[in-house]
Amino acid sequence: MQCPLCKKHTMALVEVAQDLTGSVCSACSGVWLDRARYDAWRVRLRGDLPETATPAQLDVSDNHKAKLCPQCGHMLLPYRVGHGLSFSIDYCGACGGVWCDRGEWDAIKAKNLHDNLHDIVSQNWQAAVRQSDVQASIEQSYARHLGPNYAKARELKSWLHGQSQKALILAYLADPKPAAP
Ligand SMILES: [Zn+2]
Ligand SMILES: [Zn+2]
Repeated sequence: MQCPLCKKHTMALVEVAQDLTGSVCSACSGVWLDRARYDAWRVRLRGDLPETATPAQLDVSDNHKAKLCPQCGHMLLPYRVGHGLSFSIDYCGACGGVWCDRGEWDAIKAKNLHDNLHDIVSQNWQAAVRQSDVQASIEQSYARHLGPNYAKARELKSWLHGQSQKALILAYLADPKPAAP
């Protein structure tokens, strides 16, 4: 099979996770996952692997060049992974295969998201990734405007979030009279 990035016959079958075989390009180290093989592995795996923390150091090369499916020739489309990973994987809507640029598969595996490829390319997952972008930009905006008060405000907000008396505490804070000495 031809590598969708290098466009050369540089792909070889390699075990890319326990009991899962993928095609790995010897030139660019990208990984192609065939849908049928992945689905069979997913069934054998049973259950869901628990998501783990994002590794501090990630060596990922997200390539934005247009790529064609090495299996059926359709255009691969980018789907953002999110959950602390800033890159996109490339998905073939026709045959369901997935392409990961160098390092992407390892990063996904390091977070135990490699059993979630079906979820990642779903509309719900993509909507949640966009929503968390919106949240992050709102947070950044508060941080910018609050300046040095942001850290304290954030700490208070996190604390308040878990309180059963939240409404009462907010009413007390909103009371314009200062606290009695
Ligand atoms: Zn390649
Ligand atoms: Zn395809």
